[in-house]
Amino acid sequence: MKRYLYTISAVCLFYFTTNAQITDPKATEVWQPEPRTVAPGEGAKPPSDAVILFDGKNLSEWLCPKDSTTAAWVINADGSMTVKPGAGDIQTRRSFGDCQLHLEFRTPTVVKGEGQGRGNSGIFLQGRYELQVLDCYENKTYSNGQTGSIYKQSIPLVNVCRKPGEWQAYDVLFTAPRFNVDGILVAPGHLTVLHNGVVIQLNTEIKGTTEYIGLPKNSAHGMAPIKLQDHGDLVSYRNIWIRSL
Ligand code: MG
Repeated sequence: MKRYLYTISAVCLFYFTTNAQITDPKATEVWQPEPRTVAPGEGAKPPSDAVILFDGKNLSEWLCPKDSTTAAWVINADGSMTVKPGAGDIQTRRSFGDCQLHLEFRTPTVVKGEGQGRGNSGIFLQGRYELQVLDCYENKTYSNGQTGSIYKQSIPLVNVCRKPGEWQAYDVLFTAPRFNVDGILVAPGHLTVLHNGVVIQLNTEIKGTTEYIGLPKNSAHGMAPIKLQDHGDLVSYRNIWIRSL
């Protein structure tokens, strides 16, 4: 309620005062609400208000969607986890809407396969919208399916892949799509992605589900888990954290 009143007064300030009437610099200062304090991350340490989804210790935040048992991917001594081919995708126990997501991934040092068959995995926001993970270092594939694409929807602005076996980072800002009470899409989702610190998707509109065959689909949903893809390749992940926005 307090926040609502502050917003109303700020709006009134701008709509009912003409610029010529403002002579005091204090008149345009807004002091409330005050953003809460968050300690910034440092190196691999996440910001103080982040939910840690994986820090190398265990997979307690992840489950196997087939039967809701704890995810069966492999935890490594270096604090990472690796896809266990055939074990299937894994997904978070928690559900998310708008969020900031950080994760690091590594495609296999020993290069095997080509195109979509080399170091393929993926991050499915709300279990539906795939941000592609692939080894695209000197590996050609269709542009809208390469590393950092919103799969088969949006080509990344640039290719900033590191060499196979090197750790890479994704920093993702996700605005979830909005549906009305009748289940109709009223505002599409959007994705901004930094790959190794470089912007590769800038507020890109998500057209719907990222389908292997066929066009994107839109059916109403609310908050949903994040899924990591088992595409049969030994892709590893580490330092996964999220902030709901
Ligand atoms: Mg994939």
